[in-house]
Amino acid sequence: MNPFTLPELLAPAGNLEKLKTAVLYGADAVYLGAKQHSLRARAANFDKADLYAGVAFAHEHGVKVYATVNIFAHNADLPGLADTLALMRDAGVDACIVADPGVLRLARRLVPDLPLHLSTQMNVTNAEHAAFWAGQGLARLNLARELSLAEITAIRAAVSCGLEVFVHGAICISYSGRCLLSTYFTGRDANRGDCAQPCRYSYALVEEKRPGQYFPIEEDRRGAYVFNSRDLCLLPHLPKLVATGVDALKIEGRMKSAGYVAQTVHLYRQALDWIAAQVRQGADREEVARLSLPPVFLAELSAIGTRGHTDNFFVDAPDATAMLHQSTRLEQSAVPAGIVRQTTPLTLETRSTFAVGDTLECLLPGRLAPQILRVTRLLAADPKDAASREGAELTQTRPNQLVVLESEPPLLGLQPGTLLRKRMPQP
Ligand code: SF4
Repeated sequence: MNPFTLPELLAPAGNLEKLKTAVLYGADAVYLGAKQHSLRARAANFDKADLYAGVAFAHEHGVKVYATVNIFAHNADLPGLADTLALMRDAGVDACIVADPGVLRLARRLVPDLPLHLSTQMNVTNAEHAAFWAGQGLARLNLARELSLAEITAIRAAVSCGLEVFVHGAICISYSGRCLLSTYFTGRDANRGDCAQPCRYSYALVEEKRPGQYFPIEEDRRGAYVFNSRDLCLLPHLPKLVATGVDALKIEGRMKSAGYVAQTVHLYRQALDWIAAQVRQGADREEVARLSLPPVFLAELSAIGTRGHTDNFFVDAPDATAMLHQSTRLEQSAVPAGIVRQTTPLTLETRSTFAVGDTLECLLPGRLAPQILRVTRLLAADPKDAASREGAELTQTRPNQLVVLESEPPLLGLQPGTLLRKRMPQP
């Protein structure tokens, strides 16, 4: 088989801070949305100034930027869409992600030089479907999440345009974009980027002659989350997926926190770099497909917030084990402690409570194993003069506080955006 290049690692950028976090932890590309017309209406998203700043920052670091314009548009949306497309072109994004053929047509006319990627909302599930969109000149297709390894391999063999696959993050219990639960329950339209996620709610059973009497569907006092799918995680299958020759691996989560972005991008970056090292040592495509990631990669998963994991359709059609019926999410083994805002003195914006004497982990870009440290001193930082060490001594932090941290060993050479986390006691 031919030699191959590793796929691009494509990360969510819900705002400028998360974009910088994704770049710091090793994304090859990020995707983002403008304030309108991207399917994440409640993410902070990017105004014009942030968009220009984000594209400039990413490009300075050799990272590509793709703009989501994947709304299913109504006529009233069209004039605004024209403005959004022009804004994306002027800001210098590397491609626009579209779903609606009308938006595709508009983009062709208004921004003809901008490459177009097809959104997962179009549910490409077979080779003929992929060939159709390839024939329309799409530079890349994001394949439906409902595909097996064999199907991805067959589509790869059938088309030469770029292919992108989701590897990690939340999934719908419907085909992506084919769900009206949110519109039905709350009037918030998932296909206009405003899903209220009712599939994560707790449900009960009501007999029609006994209104107001709620019978539990399962005997579990925490409730019954009958529609709550576990999160997609293809990390254990990464070598096989890489060996298919797909061009990009996408992480879901523009609504997720910067801490989540840091940990997922960091983990998949390290895993891809490990595969790259095997290739450098002579592994060909077939040998890569037979590789197994060392257990330390899978252990790292437990530190990232999740609803539990499923490989969805990758091996077989999902069964009941793909659902998380007992709760809306799982306990996680670590929580973000703080994000570095300034390095001299080391100043953190805290995300949780920790105290002098506690042990924290610092997630270092480029290295899987975190740096372990003990907190030796905490000072309240002055937001107007973060270089000052004159703030009040603290015994412990509270969330969303600016603090100067001293530790043993001292943390040196960190970059703004670096994540520190705290392990949680296990039951
Ligand atoms: S309600 Fe759930 S399944 Fe439906 S679109 Fe929203 S996230 Fe997806």
